[in-house]
Amino acid sequence: MTDCIFCKIVAGAIPSKKIYEDSEIIAFNDIHPIAPVHFLLVPKVHVAGLGDCVAEHEGLLGRLLLLAPKLAKEQGLDGFRTMINTGKSGGQEVFHLHIHVFGGGSSLPKT
Ligand code: 5GP
Ligand code: ZN
Repeated sequence: MTDCIFCKIVAGAIPSKKIYEDSEIIAFNDIHPIAPVHFLLVPKVHVAGLGDCVAEHEGLLGRLLLLAPKLAKEQGLDGFRTMINTGKSGGQEVFHLHIHVFGGGSSLPKT
């Protein structure tokens, strides 16, 4: 996906504040954080969003979610929120699957 910003970050063509990388997942700080700690968990493979995931992504989705508490703890969070925006009407702006993880500071609002 040549015009996908997260594919470019995965490829190293656009810089990011990377906090984790393995063979299939990268995590980096959000450029516009909404909390003191705010990072994104991103699969290296281009999948547009959660609505485009199929059975073959089951393992990947599990590994992405399992990384969230591990990296949140490493970033100093004892509690955090995860968010997956799906589709334009779901607030998604970057159409490459990603999980937001954010927290820190005072308690997050209920919604
Ligand atoms: P979405 O609304 O698609 O769930 O969230 C996209 C997120 O990606 C936003 O929070 C936005 O700040 C972040 N973002 C967009 N472009 C870049 C970028 O070039 N670098 C980084 N690190 N984050 C980005
Ligand atoms: Zn992409």
